[in-house]
Amino acid sequence: MSGRVMIVDPVSTNRIVLKVKLLAARYEVVPCASFSEALDKLEAETPDIILVEASQLADDLSTFVATLRASRLGESLPVLGLGHFENSADRLNTLLSGIDDILAKPYSDSLLQARIRSLLRARGDGQEPDLPDETRRALGFAESAAIFEPSGSVVIISAGELVGRRLALSIDRLRTGHAAVVEPERALEMRGSAVPDLFVIDARESRTRQAQDKVFHLIADLRSRSDTRHAAQLVVLPQTADDMAAMSLDLGASETIPAEADADELSHRVRALLARKGKLDRLRNTLRTGLEAAMTDPLTGLHNRRFAMSYLTGLAQRSFETGRSLAVMVLDIDHFKQVNDTYGHTVGDAVLVGVAELLRKNLRSVDLIARVGGEEFLVAMPEACADAARAAAERLRQRIGSTPFNHEGKEPVFITLSVGIAVAGPERPLNDLSAIESLLVQADGALYRSKTSGRNTVTLDQSAA
Ligand code: GH3
Ligand code: MG
Ligand code: MG
Repeated sequence: MSGRVMIVDPVSTNRIVLKVKLLAARYEVVPCASFSEALDKLEAETPDIILVEASQLADDLSTFVATLRASRLGESLPVLGLGHFENSADRLNTLLSGIDDILAKPYSDSLLQARIRSLLRARGDGQEPDLPDETRRALGFAESAAIFEPSGSVVIISAGELVGRRLALSIDRLRTGHAAVVEPERALEMRGSAVPDLFVIDARESRTRQAQDKVFHLIADLRSRSDTRHAAQLVVLPQTADDMAAMSLDLGASETIPAEADADELSHRVRALLARKGKLDRLRNTLRTGLEAAMTDPLTGLHNRRFAMSYLTGLAQRSFETGRSLAVMVLDIDHFKQVNDTYGHTVGDAVLVGVAELLRKNLRSVDLIARVGGEEFLVAMPEACADAARAAAERLRQRIGSTPFNHEGKEPVFITLSVGIAVAGPERPLNDLSAIESLLVQADGALYRSKTSGRNTVTLDQSAA
């Protein structure tokens, strides 16, 4: 993994030693002797992560992090503190300055590399997509700056119940509610809403090779299963276990904490991890609902025209490459204006929803169904030949024509449907990709003939594709 690492250390030999290590690992390095130099260089150098000598610069660390977090570039920039920490209070104080994690000197090179990798990975996951402002607003990213009190569920995974209970007690003091203790096998069986926001993996007693392998498998399994892969993982390690920490991080642990750290540090990390998890969840939701909205017609829930057109291009590509059939039909409700004029627009809307439902129920799941205009729908049926498409359209025409669309207990509304079909296939292959346009034009022409020949009709285009 490459990236730009900014180093802040007042001692030049330390900067050089660290720089050499990072260059060897293919990072670009930006050395700084002070916090003010780092802040000055931020804009021009745009680092991906900052490593800070956290013991010697302890006095100004909080101010530095606060300044960083208030800036656009530094808002979500990971900061890793390296230092000699006298005791657990010292560790906690350093963490409370707002940095993402600490590494106690002397640490192994592999642990440093693994921690940098995992922080860069987490940063990538937490970053909003790089989109134009308008698109961001349309997708709903504008309000994401709000700060939420961290909350969430925690499950402790421990092979030794008693050991786990002690961890649970310190976590229960948080506002997260009760932290359950489960065995590793149980954690892997968790599904859906049973999955917590955070797994605390108790590996304090895992000193043998065999026990460590079990922990590694657990971390990797939790990270790879679809139900648990978004849950944060905090691994509590045996004393001085750099190699184990490095491996845990590379396998997908969010953070590790040594056994000697005190309960307050554990609490702090749990809170920080829950806050980050909450932010990630919101980001994922925003993206999902935003994307859904961008491709869905809000009235009927069918795909909208924009989605249909780009999806159709994909279907056409496949048909073009394989020579297999692709049927396209355009469906238009007859005299729909009269429905609105007679019963009102709301009833008209209800009829459109009813028609959409009926289309969904009577077509295959592989068929594309979209509302492409006011009372106009598009259906694309991959691998359907002309006969199959005509039969499907005929079935839809009959169903629609015989269905009473009811609205709030008033008299039922009956409507009819006109359909135009054009089919590409072995006999009429798509000559090139732009031929999908002419296929649509042909389907439109067939629809027009259905309309002019009295409506409530299915017409199959017979011209060459
Ligand atoms: P034809 O048989 O020739 O298709 O006649 P038509 O009345 O269905 O077609 P026309 O294009 O003249 O009118 C379509 C009508 O569809 C006009 C418009 O008021 C109505 N319409 C379009 N979108 C909506 C909508 O979202 N809700 C409702 N209720 N009506 C809509
Ligand atoms: Mg119409
Ligand atoms: Mg129309």
